[in-house]
Amino acid sequence: MTQVPLSIAGETLSGDGREVADVLDPSTGEAIGTVVHATTADLDRALDAAARGFKTWRNTPADQRSAVLMKAAGLIRERAKDIGASITREQGKPVKEAIGETVYCAMLLEFYAGEIKRLYGRTLVRPAGSRVEVQYHPVGPVAGFAAWNFPALNVMRKIGGALAAGCSTIVKPSEETPSGGLAMVQALIDAGVPGEAVQCVFGVPDEVSRHLLASPVIRKVTFTGSTAVGKHLAKLAADDLKIATMELGGHAPVLVFADSDIDKALDTMTANAFRNAGQVCVSPTRFLVEEPVFAKFRDGFVERTKALKVGNGFEKDIDMGPMASPRGLERMESMIGDAKTHGAKVLAGGERIGNQGWFHAPTVLAEVPTGAEIMNEEPFGPVAILNSMAGEDAMIEEANRLPYGLAAYAWTQNPARRRRLAAEVEAGMLAIDTGGVSAADAPFGGVKWSGYGSEDGREGVLTCMVTKTVHEG
Ligand code: NAD
Repeated sequence: MTQVPLSIAGETLSGDGREVADVLDPSTGEAIGTVVHATTADLDRALDAAARGFKTWRNTPADQRSAVLMKAAGLIRERAKDIGASITREQGKPVKEAIGETVYCAMLLEFYAGEIKRLYGRTLVRPAGSRVEVQYHPVGPVAGFAAWNFPALNVMRKIGGALAAGCSTIVKPSEETPSGGLAMVQALIDAGVPGEAVQCVFGVPDEVSRHLLASPVIRKVTFTGSTAVGKHLAKLAADDLKIATMELGGHAPVLVFADSDIDKALDTMTANAFRNAGQVCVSPTRFLVEEPVFAKFRDGFVERTKALKVGNGFEKDIDMGPMASPRGLERMESMIGDAKTHGAKVLAGGERIGNQGWFHAPTVLAEVPTGAEIMNEEPFGPVAILNSMAGEDAMIEEANRLPYGLAAYAWTQNPARRRRLAAEVEAGMLAIDTGGVSAADAPFGGVKWSGYGSEDGREGVLTCMVTKTVHEG
């Protein structure tokens, strides 16, 4: 049994009468440790420290901040195996995915370490003797709240860009998967980020966010999670006009055209649909397949899905672990039941596996009517919906039907169609003939109900900065 502590003002805090909550193993449902909850006094201490940490960190020379982030990236790479194992224990994903997630965190820091040195302002041309200078400044202390589906990466996305910008940060990883996030914070402290500039707290989520966001010290909030909670936090942020980045849910359409390389699309997208048991905000969900290739695509998808191996994340050669919580399992069961009532066909899976832990079979539904809940709400689980569609216009219309707009995928070899999709599909990220929508140097984020503001890339730093325009006569 491990206990995951708080990290406040550089101090590791546990015990002393603080409340703790159990951390569960999704492959058994049993408690494997506890996480320490911060008291109100702890949160106040973290706020005071963040105000001081901001002054120290923003005034640390850029090349020094860059070197510290590079060093942290190195430590994360060195520790990737152990951090990955802790993620699998608490979240369930296959350990090779967990290690990959950890290494991606290092790649993000490496990109940001370079970006710190390129945060130029600009000078506007004016008559001799006068000038206008556009400067970029860190916005101030940032409060981040991260979901459980990528325990390390979600946290790094909250704090990496903010630290690169010169902000101090207080992050609350998910209490369900606390270790990966704390490991990111610890690596940054070990590399030389002041403990007052990078802090980690846990508690009852709504109580922690209300407390931190009520403070004028915090100047930005950044959240990964559901649209409902995102809207709530955006309203709290608005009370004090704090800026916000919201990385919320999606319902990614996949437009498969008859002119595409079907085998490549199948190999790529089947693996993608069940990665992390489908608990990914950019998970491909609604497959809109052009009628002439529908039967071929459906049969190939079902065959590949049935071949996937599900098991404990530490088992060798498994493709998919358990779901992260019983909440997710219940959501799957309820949505699949509702789809069946609406006439959907279950072509693979459809049920949970066993009664120990939270395993659910990779599931394929076909011919799902628009009225079914799963066609409108994010399932956030191992399920793919395959529907036959008649032509480009109808496919684009269906892709844009929902209020979500995070990722979208398309498979087509027609250059003119690619350009039209790039112009008309409403999404923050569009992947054409590839399954990848995420890269350290590319902005990641959504539109509409999927949120606003970007993480990663240059934009991941700029969303933590404000401009100051200096006019000199
Ligand atoms: P949720 O939004 O309730 O919780 C997500 C995370 O936010 C959790 O770690 C939770 O601790 C935290 N949280 C919840 N309320 C908070 C608050 N008031 N203040 C601060 N943090 C808070 O979602 P869930 O119940 O875990 O999952 C439900 C749905 O949310 C999923 O089915 C999916 O649609 C969506 N979701 C999206 C992402 C994403 O990557 N965008 C991640 C997780 C969940």
